[in-house]
Amino acid sequence: MLADRVKKIKPSATLAIDSKAKAMKASGIDVISFGVGEPDFDTPEYIKEAAVKAMKDGFTKYTAVGGIDSLKDAIREKLQRDNNLTYAREEIIVSCGAKHSLYNIAQALYGPGDEVIIPSPYWVSYPDQVLLNDATPVFVKTFEDDSFLIRPEALAAAITKKTKALILNSPSNPTGMLYDRASLEKIAELAVKHNFYVVSDEIYEKLVYDGAEHISVASFNSEIKARSIVVNGLSKSYAMTGWRIGYAAGPSDVIKAMTNIQSQSTSNPNSIAQKASVAALTGPQDFMSAMHAEFDARRKFLVGQLNTIEGMTCRMPAGAFYAFPNTSGIYGRKFGDRIIANSNDLALYLLEEANVALVHGAAFGDDNYIRLSYATSLDGIQRGVERIRETLGNLKDGR
Ligand SMILES: *Cc1c(COP(=O)(O)O)cnc(C)c1O
Repeated sequence: MLADRVKKIKPSATLAIDSKAKAMKASGIDVISFGVGEPDFDTPEYIKEAAVKAMKDGFTKYTAVGGIDSLKDAIREKLQRDNNLTYAREEIIVSCGAKHSLYNIAQALYGPGDEVIIPSPYWVSYPDQVLLNDATPVFVKTFEDDSFLIRPEALAAAITKKTKALILNSPSNPTGMLYDRASLEKIAELAVKHNFYVVSDEIYEKLVYDGAEHISVASFNSEIKARSIVVNGLSKSYAMTGWRIGYAAGPSDVIKAMTNIQSQSTSNPNSIAQKASVAALTGPQDFMSAMHAEFDARRKFLVGQLNTIEGMTCRMPAGAFYAFPNTSGIYGRKFGDRIIANSNDLALYLLEEANVALVHGAAFGDDNYIRLSYATSLDGIQRGVERIRETLGNLKDGR
């Protein structure tokens, strides 16, 4: 008999679509994937060299559970430089990916009776991490017309005595939206007034476009900083998804609890990847501007194209590498006997009939949308969009 907690959760929908698309590819089908949430760039050479050096130097043993001092210091410098945030070593933990840091936070903070506010649409793992720790996710709907930013009055209405934390993700996966300073200040005020934590997932920090500014909510004042846990990692900004290095910065009591949890679960993150991450954070950063320019070109192209497809409308995302078009105009249409009634039907139809992989919005909490990652070549985007256009053109009005 399995434990009750596993009945509450489901496998990550984004990883599920990805494995289905990979299986189709393996069987010889030419699948174009907009499904994956990882950069299609290779890890820069200087980072790989640091890993090779670490191995040759014999840096292949257990390290301190919460990460080596040189990496903690590189992270502290990064937080100071990029986010105007000052942290001591004991306020930093390095984990096996940002997802692991988020899970450690969930274990350290959430328990039975606690409510955790999650703006919807949300990243797929937030609700399940809350559920795995017997707490209750409280969803607050956000709207396209508000650029998917949480309305302060909606947030205020969701706060109760049981509110333990708010999980913020800016820039957002899946919407690509970015919080501006004024909105974040209102959120910070509410967090301080009602004394709950803000878990700020800033993994897409480096991917903001059109000169927009990423702001860390923790940077406003010491009161909000004392209630913030900033989560970030190397996966997205350095094309290092497979290396599994992420980190969190926050109050020392929370970080200490997370470190204790880590000491009894995974122990330290990979020693070699830690050395590579020091090189990534302290080495030349010019690779990032090339990656950024490429993502920006794809973003403009993809969103422009999606808006020319009948039944779809797509806002221009300000960050990350996802387009999140509204597809509700397509629902109700038919392909033979098959009715496309929701985002899941649409994603399956496009996977089977167009061999295009993307993720249904319902997985992120909003059925009116689908998510397309543009972490794929411009040529692939071009061909994929044409397939989508053609395949949707075969649908007949069902009403
Ligand atoms: C990719 C992603 C993460 C996790 O990244 P890892 O460091 O690879 O674990 C966390 N949050 C969001 C929103 C992401 O898209």
